[in-house]
Order: sequence, then structure tokens, then C-alpha cells
Amino acid sequence: AKNSSNRSIVQFEKKMAEEAAYRHQLEQDLRKAVSHGDLDLALQPQVVVQGEKLVGFEALARWQHPEFGAIRPDLFIEIAEQTGLICELGKQVLNRACRETALLNTQFDKSFRISVNLSSLQFQNENLVQFVEDACRSHGLAPEMLELEVTESLFLSNSEQTKTALAAIRGMGARIALDDFGTGYSSLSYLREFAIDRIKLDRSFIKDVSWSASDQRIVKGIISLAKSLDISTIAEGVETNQQREFLEECECDEIQGFYYGVPSSATDLSSLMKKGG
Ligand code: C2E
Ligand code: CA
Ligand code: CA
Ligand code: CA
Repeated sequence: AKNSSNRSIVQFEKKMAEEAAYRHQLEQDLRKAVSHGDLDLALQPQVVVQGEKLVGFEALARWQHPEFGAIRPDLFIEIAEQTGLICELGKQVLNRACRETALLNTQFDKSFRISVNLSSLQFQNENLVQFVEDACRSHGLAPEMLELEVTESLFLSNSEQTKTALAAIRGMGARIALDDFGTGYSSLSYLREFAIDRIKLDRSFIKDVSWSASDQRIVKGIISLAKSLDISTIAEGVETNQQREFLEECECDEIQGFYYGVPSSATDLSSLMKKGG
């Protein structure tokens, strides 16, 4: 027994060392990929519940590693956050998202909105507001068509600078969405204290909402709270028609999820739309 437990400890340590080496490798490769602008962008449809009209997209970063293939965004975004690479990565995503949306809008004579994720770290940069303004202007995207998704972690630190930046972003006409609502450091006072245009209900509340009575109550509650504060709502991770129907019943404003489309490149979206899909 002693020998076998020693052996499993050795194997465990070996596995840990391998994982650390893999992570270290990814970190170095991500640095290269970001500096070469090698990351890709995927767009996922956002659809109005009443009338099921496509109104915009969320921009999501993608990384195709030359050796390991597609790396899970959760993993490389976490590495990017830990190394600070997220600031450069986030700027590239924002620029590219504005460019591709402006192109789609011209191509299809539409005014699609684009939602871009901003890391809390990006708010530590004093030039963030200027960068956002430049990104819109240089690609000819009206700021009204841009939404920035922030998470509750943003409200924990340096709230004066954060408030100023959020106000300036809204001042130029762009909108602020509170992402993954309900999963973080949720304090409802944030909704009052920080100016927010919409709440994005996290997928964890949507997953079982077609049958779980408690999740149904939570989702209903969040949506009616948002309504009473004049904040609009979007649900993420909607995969089935039952989920959609429940959200319609609750008067959720918009939906994003595999039910309406997986994240795809602008090129693929554009050929889909040409076919009228
Ligand atoms: P998120 O912001 O919550 O993005 C939504 C995630 O849900 C995406 O995962 C999307 O692919 C996935 N998703 C959408 N619809 C469905 C569905 O119906 N079912 C299921 N099971 N999943 C669905 P993804 O692309 O893996 O991204 C993971 C996270 O990485 C994002 O979560 C976001 O926090 C972060 N991320 C991605 N791109 C960026 C970026 O450019 N900047 C920053 N700061 N974070 C990013
Ligand atoms: Ca998001
Ligand atoms: Ca989210
Ligand atoms: Ca999420």
C-alpha cells in the first residue's frame, strides 16, 4: 500500500509539473500571438425576444494555437488577465469588432450593435475612454452601436475613476452592460450607484430554467428588478425553445445563445446572411 501510494504521489507531482509547463508554454505563445495580432474574432448573434429580430452580436476572442489547436477562451483569457496581456488583447478585439461591425452594417445596410468585453484591468488605463472613442471614429461606427460588457469585479476597486470612465463612455453614446449578472460580487447597490444600461443574465441561471422552479423565480425576479430600474435585459446561453418561451413570458428583452447561433467569423455570418439564413 505504501509503495502504491508513493507511486501515485509521484505521478501526481509529474502531472502537476506537466501542467505547469503547459501553462508556461501557453503564456509565452499567447504573448507572441497577441503581439503578432494572431487572435481571431467570433461574433455571436443577439436577438430581440419580441419578433425574433437579429439586432447585434457579442465579440468573442478566439485563439488557434499552431500546435495545440483551438484553446478554450476561459483558459487563455485567464492567462491574459494574470499576465496583463488582456489590455492589449482587449484593445485588438475592440478595434476589430468595430471594424467588422461597420463593414457588416455597410454590406447589409443594417445598424447592428456590437458588444465587446472589457476586463476590469483595462479601466486602470487612463486612455481607455479615448481609445474607445478612436475605435468608433476610425472605423466609422456610431458609438450608439457599441456596448461594453463589464463584470461586477470592476466595482470593487477604485470606484471614482471607474465611475468617471463609465460616465464618459455613456456620454459619448455607447452603452454599458453588466455581464454574468448574479455570479460575482453581486450587490444590488451597484445597480443604483453605477450607471448601467443593461444586465446580462448569466448562463448558469438559464441552464435549468425550463424546469427548475427556483431558477425560474430568480430569473423572473432579476428581470422585474431590472425593469423597475429602467435597465434592459439580455439572457445568455439560451439553447432551447423552452428556455426562450420562458424568457418571453418574463419579458426579457433579448436573447443570446446557441438557439440562435454559435459564435462565428464575420465572413461566415456574412455568407449566411446573404443566403437569407
Ligand atoms: P462570456 O462573456 O460570458 O461569454 C459568453 C460565453 O458563453 C462564450 O464562451 C460563448 O461562446 C458561450 N455561449 C454562448 N451561447 C451559449 C450557449 O447557448 N450554450 C453554451 N453552453 N455556451 C454558450 P467563450 O467564447 O468560451 O468565452 C468565455 C469567456 O471568455 C467569455 O465569457 C468572456 O468572459 C471571456 N472572453 C472572451 N473573449 C473576450 C475578450 O475579448 N475580452 C475579455 N475581457 N474577455 C473575453
Ligand atoms: Ca460577455
Ligand atoms: Ca456573459
Ligand atoms: Ca458567462
